[in-house]
Amino acid sequence: MGARRKMEDRYRKFSFVTDIGGIKSAIGEMKGKGFPKQPLLNKDYSPSPNDPVLDEQWFVDTIKDKLANHPDNSFEYPFFGERIFDEPLVGFIRGDDPLLAEYKNIIGPHHFTPLEIMQWQAENNGVPAPEASDLSVVSFVMPITRNTKDDNAARTDWTSERWAQTRLLGEIFSQTFVREIITHLMDKGVLAIAPDVTPMFNKKRYPNVGWASPWSHRHMAYAAGLGTFGMHDFLITEKGCSHRVGSFVVNLKLEPNRQRPDDIHANCLQYQGVPCMKCKSRCPVDAITEKDAHDKEKCYQRVAASTKYCNKNYHIFIYGCGLCATGTPCESGIPVALQK
Ligand code: SF4
Ligand code: SF4
Repeated sequence: MGARRKMEDRYRKFSFVTDIGGIKSAIGEMKGKGFPKQPLLNKDYSPSPNDPVLDEQWFVDTIKDKLANHPDNSFEYPFFGERIFDEPLVGFIRGDDPLLAEYKNIIGPHHFTPLEIMQWQAENNGVPAPEASDLSVVSFVMPITRNTKDDNAARTDWTSERWAQTRLLGEIFSQTFVREIITHLMDKGVLAIAPDVTPMFNKKRYPNVGWASPWSHRHMAYAAGLGTFGMHDFLITEKGCSHRVGSFVVNLKLEPNRQRPDDIHANCLQYQGVPCMKCKSRCPVDAITEKDAHDKEKCYQRVAASTKYCNKNYHIFIYGCGLCATGTPCESGIPVALQK
């Protein structure tokens, strides 16, 4: 049997029951369950002069290295050998940045501050919780590759296979490499936590908010100065809006490395008075309008319905869409008319 045929035979047929990774990922996202145990803090660690300094550059280099060299940053059949993400952007937010507390008003009271999430981790490890001013959030943006963007841009109905795999395998990869970083830090005696892989994380419908999670990677990326929001609610960064974002909290003082624009829509043509709405024309269910921008509920219904499509056609247990984030002027960078 040829190698290709063997791969095809391994392609799962009934992903609603056989895509264990996908099912676990979905339960984790909705209920905060099924993740590996949190790494424990090494309270007896005594620093060695040979230890690398855990500064901003260490985090930038480490995250770049994970995306460049980690074996899990890769697609499954039929795209074996292709990387899921290109070189990331990395930014930092101080734990006492007033915007993080303000998110309780902007996003909703359910949204955690870094201190709240770190208090949980400190209690787990039997140590006093640090002050908010001793914490930082590390935020990163993982750009989606050219092949995946081209595939999705060519679609007008449902998401492409590469995009669907990016949603599933990319998320699992992100959680894996962040966990590796958290484990390393905890082993070196530094409290650290990724909020989205704790039992405190659950996605649900909140009053006056709609579907939301208690920790928004996207809002963290805005706070870190990595991008601003578009009509489609995706974050438009210098590498565009086709990406996945992630973040975690550390008990270290890291300095912000980017200027955050005051205008949360600074990189969107339409919001800046340049007629565009290309994202609206890409949406198959009219979930984006000039008057109301992004209708989260309408979008959610469509995205949830895609689970069946992805299962039947791509043999994985995941939902996704992202049509409005591809084939647009903000797909791969800040629109030319807004570049300074
Ligand atoms: S497609 Fe145009 S209107 Fe839509 S988010 Fe991008 S820049 Fe803004
Ligand atoms: S992600 Fe939502 S808003 Fe964007 S095209 Fe899909 S359904 Fe429409």
